Order: sequence, then C-alpha cells, then structure tokens
Amino acid sequence: MTMTWTIDGVREGLAAKKISARELTGDFYKRIETRNAELNAYLALSPQRAYAQADKMDALVAAGKPLPPLAGVPVAIKDVLSTRGITTTCGSKILEHYVPPYDATAVKRLEEAGAVILGKTNCDEFAMGSSNENSAYGPVKNPHAMDRVPGGSSGGSAAAVAAGLAVASLGTDTGGSIRQPGALCGIPAMMGSYGRVSRYGLIAFASSLDRIGPFANNVKDVAAILQTIAGRDANDSTSTTAPVPTYADEISKPVKGMRIGIPRDYFAEGLDSGVRDKIEKGIELLKKLGCEPVDIRMPHTDYAIATYYIIATAEASSNLARYDGVRYGLRVDDPTLLGMYRKTRGAGFGPEVKRRIVLGTYVLSAGYYDAYYLKGQKVRALIAQDFRDAFTKVDAIVTPTSPVPAFKLGERTSDPLQMYLADIYTVTGSLAGVPGISLPCGRSCGKLPVGLQLFGPAFGEPRILQLAHAFEQAGGASI
Ligand code: GLN
Repeated sequence: MTMTWTIDGVREGLAAKKISARELTGDFYKRIETRNAELNAYLALSPQRAYAQADKMDALVAAGKPLPPLAGVPVAIKDVLSTRGITTTCGSKILEHYVPPYDATAVKRLEEAGAVILGKTNCDEFAMGSSNENSAYGPVKNPHAMDRVPGGSSGGSAAAVAAGLAVASLGTDTGGSIRQPGALCGIPAMMGSYGRVSRYGLIAFASSLDRIGPFANNVKDVAAILQTIAGRDANDSTSTTAPVPTYADEISKPVKGMRIGIPRDYFAEGLDSGVRDKIEKGIELLKKLGCEPVDIRMPHTDYAIATYYIIATAEASSNLARYDGVRYGLRVDDPTLLGMYRKTRGAGFGPEVKRRIVLGTYVLSAGYYDAYYLKGQKVRALIAQDFRDAFTKVDAIVTPTSPVPAFKLGERTSDPLQMYLADIYTVTGSLAGVPGISLPCGRSCGKLPVGLQLFGPAFGEPRILQLAHAFEQAGGASI
C-alpha cells in the first residue's frame, strides 16, 4: 500500500525534518515510474523544475524560516494549463510540441505557495469529453478498475491523485470535467464560482464556462488549493474582486439546521440504481448531521444538455479558430493558404474536436444563430434563474454527480449522445456559474466509487465546503 499524503502531513513531515522536500519529490517520481505506464495519467514530467522548487523549500527548513502554505506539496497540472518551459498539449496532436512561454496564474500561485509541480496530466482533447478517451495520447485508466474510464475531461488529474501519484492536482471544468472524474475516481473535486479563479493561461475551450479547480484526497486539502488559486488577477478581467474568505476557518463551522434542496428533476430516468441507493444514503447522513431536506424543483433541467452543447460548441468553434498553422503548434505545408489551413486542422484535430467545431460553427451561422445560439443563451438564463429561485429556499443543493459509476473503456465511444448524457447533472451548475463539489459517497454495489454533488449559490463556496467537510468527517466516503 502506498502511503496517502495530505497537505498537513507534508507540512508536519518537513517541519519535523522527517523527510525533505527533495526526498518526497523523488518518492513521488518513483511512484509515477512504477504506475504511470499502465495508468497513462501523466503526459509530461518536469523533474528539473520540481527538484529546484523542492530544494528551495528544503533551504527554508534548514534556515528555520517560515514555510509557505503548500511547501513541498507534490501537485499535478492538467495539460490545458500553460506551464512555462513544459510542453502543454491539451491532449491534442495540434499542440504536440507546444511549450508555453509563461505560467497560468493558477500554476504560478501554486508554485508561489511552495507546491512542487511534478508534471502535466492527460485529458480529453481540448477538454472535450467525459471519459478521457478523446485524448490523442491514449485513454487514462481508472485506478479502481483498470478496464474502466476515469471520467473526463480531467481524467489524468483525477487518476493521479486517486492512485497516489500526486497529493493534489488542478483540473478544469466546463460542463463537469472536474466533478465527474472526481466522482468516478472516488476523490473530492471542486469547481469554484465562475470568476473565483483566474483563467489566465488556461487554453480556452468555452470561455464563458471554463473554470479551474482542485482534486485532493480530502476536503480540507481541496479548500487549501482553492484558497491558493482564488482571487482577482489583473490578467483575467472576468476574475472577481470579491474578497476570498479564509476557507480553513469556515469548513469546520456547524452544519446543523442547514436546508439542503433535493431536486426531484435530478432523480429521474437514467439514474443507475446503485448510484441512487448511495445518494439516498448520503442524504440520510446529511439529515443525521442536522440538515433539513427540502424538495425543490429545477424546471429547466431537461434543457440543460442541449443548451450546454450549443453554447460550449459555439464558443469552442471560435476559440479553436486560432489553430491555423500560422501562430501555434502544428503546420502541414501546402502551396495554398487555404490548403495549409485545411491540412493542418485536418491532421491536428481529433474526431470529437472536429465534431464540436462543425456543430459550433453551425449554431453560430447566419440564419441559425437566432434559432440555436440565441435561444441557448435565453435558456441558460432560465437555468440560472432556477438556481437563484432554489437558493431563496435552501442553503445547498444535493444531487448525484454522475448518473452512472465508471463505465468500461470503449463502451460509449461510438455514441456521442450517450457520452454527452454523462454530464446531465453537472452542466446545469456550469451554465449557472455556481460552485459545485463532488464527494466520495460509498461504492455502487460495493465496487465502483459514487460521487455526491453539492451546489451552492454564487460565491457560496464556504457553505458547500462546510457541508462537504462534515459529510466526509461523518464517514460519507464509506457509506
Ligand atoms: N464532458 C463535457 C464536454 O465534453 C464537459 C467537458 C468539460 O467540463 N471540460 O464538453
């Protein structure tokens, strides 16, 4: 059994000089060497940068200086986040050799807080997918069942933490890509409110939906990572100036008397009975903790998948126009400019990315714009209103994260619609901009991890972290 490290564990280990940051880093690289060939969670490793940072932390320990909050904590970064000097592929052939000249703000903030960046994790191409099978570099395996998917698109970040190949990691969530792989890999995973974390240096998929957030082994560590990366950044005008509360002070506050909304619309057809059973037990546990369940309606839920796939593909088609063989990554030569564009994009993008570009271009095209894109935006407003209405009655909303536990590799690849349905419970919160967290909530039929999702109102992160922490401390993971 490999030891599970936590942020507190690393800190105590370093302070008591039981282990050095260099040794810990080396230990994690050994784990990666042993397991990554089968898991395929990491696409690139950055030992030079990692050891340099570890040595810096060890020098602080030696000098008896105070340690920054994440001193020596080995972390992994999803490969859609820019990392100076480290290849950043987005899981795509089109960026196979792309090395960014700068760090994403979230990455920079982690490093400034003392974290050690081990490397970059595998993901669906440009974060489009729910199983990690759309990566140009092969799928990631689920550490709980090697013949199953880890979820996606941040499958590598989830699997790395679940398999003990990082203490924490960063993923991105546009329609569920942090929460769903967190659920399928059995670890806590969080997306803060839209605007809570700067997107600077995140290679864009759908800019009005993309968010960066953490995976870790416990809620306290999730809160610590979010704390580090949250807050205004002059480089992202959509990052908010709203002050960042001290989450560590908030999470242990009592949850007794909190009203939790149970949207019946989320417990309809398509929900696996093993998942339903665990979520119902999870709700029972929250009741035991003194929470009061309230039946609520979220009447526009049925339209969420369609709305998401209109808006996300529309934004993707314009964001991905920049890969034209001129400015970034791959270029396939041709005597004509149009020929060069065609060949480059034809060779560089995988089938799902092409499907999204075609869909997105279609919904934005003259004549269809009003019928699809504009209508999508209107429905998005209604979905956000469902959340605002619900939060006048309840403090948090409880749902399953995914309708099914981890499915078999290859099981859904031939049917994109089936794959899109994996996001049925996550896309609503994405469209509404509210924060969400997925928590381990037992195992379906004793085997595969189930995730329970909590939504809070915009900037209500403290509230859902509080509930999440109480749920975890009461044994929610082994319900
Ligand atoms: N699975 C969803 C999609 O394919 C969500 C992806 C994401 O959140 N990045 O678009």
